[in-house]
Amino acid sequence: MKILSPAKINLFLTITGKRSDGYHDLRSLICRIGLYDSISIAFGFDDLIVRCNAPGVPNDGTNLAYKAASLFLNSINKREGLQITIEKRIPVAAGLGGGSSNAASVLLGLNRHYGSPFSRDELMAMSLTLGADVPFFIFGKPALASGIGEKLKAFDGLSPFTIVLVYPGFGVSTADVYKNLNLELTKCKKKLKQFQPERHHFDVKRHLCNDLESVTASRHPDIIEAKAALLKYGAGGALMSGSGPTVFGLFTDSENAKKAKYRLSKNKKWQVFLADMII
Ligand code: ATP
Repeated sequence: MKILSPAKINLFLTITGKRSDGYHDLRSLICRIGLYDSISIAFGFDDLIVRCNAPGVPNDGTNLAYKAASLFLNSINKREGLQITIEKRIPVAAGLGGGSSNAASVLLGLNRHYGSPFSRDELMAMSLTLGADVPFFIFGKPALASGIGEKLKAFDGLSPFTIVLVYPGFGVSTADVYKNLNLELTKCKKKLKQFQPERHHFDVKRHLCNDLESVTASRHPDIIEAKAALLKYGAGGALMSGSGPTVFGLFTDSENAKKAKYRLSKNKKWQVFLADMII
């Protein structure tokens, strides 16, 4: 079985508070994009094995795809072994949700293979134990997320921008970014007061905002540089995704996006990708 596992971007991300269990409450507009890892699952093995070609991704029981498969097989009381091979294209620890997406794709793939024992809602509920972003990838539509990211509402007010992504060549730890966040300095809540989801309208000029951006950018100036370059080359708006460090630009014209990608690729430290929004 072959499955495509997409990345995501956060078009806004505002942190609304810290909970007693250490997690943060947030509000985010999230959209999947057409940058994919490929996952193949082979059946009929004795053990569960995960292989991945990318540095920084574990090949053992801590891999999120392994955890997802193990959770699924236990839930249906199956003892079958599987071989899961992940071909990574989504940069790792980059704010693009690659690991969470791999976990969701494995759950969706296995559910289909074993005759759909679980509904989408059931899969989303069980996937939350793997990570706060996993339910979003099972949900399958652009969404307004709240809670720790697990409460999802479909949002159909997005325009189909072409996305140019700049991965500056290093990963960041999401946990570290949250540790360094000062809630008193967050600014997006105020900005997003004018955002009215019921009017189905996302305005790039007014609503692009990420409370984690200044935390990551204060340690990594590449983020400021990449944003400025995206805007210079014609993006209607640019923002860091999730806890970063990947920055994306939104282009209304795909030809301009291609030209921007070409120009940005001249910086050899950066990896630049072009992707559509999955809306
Ligand atoms: P998050 O914000 O959820 O940490 P991210 O997009 O910033 O997401 P990921 O690419 O999902 O980052 O990787 C986060 C960490 O998860 C990595 O450091 C990696 O070691 C670990 N990991 C475990 N399984 C996977 C997987 N299948 N793909 C990518 N990373 C994985």
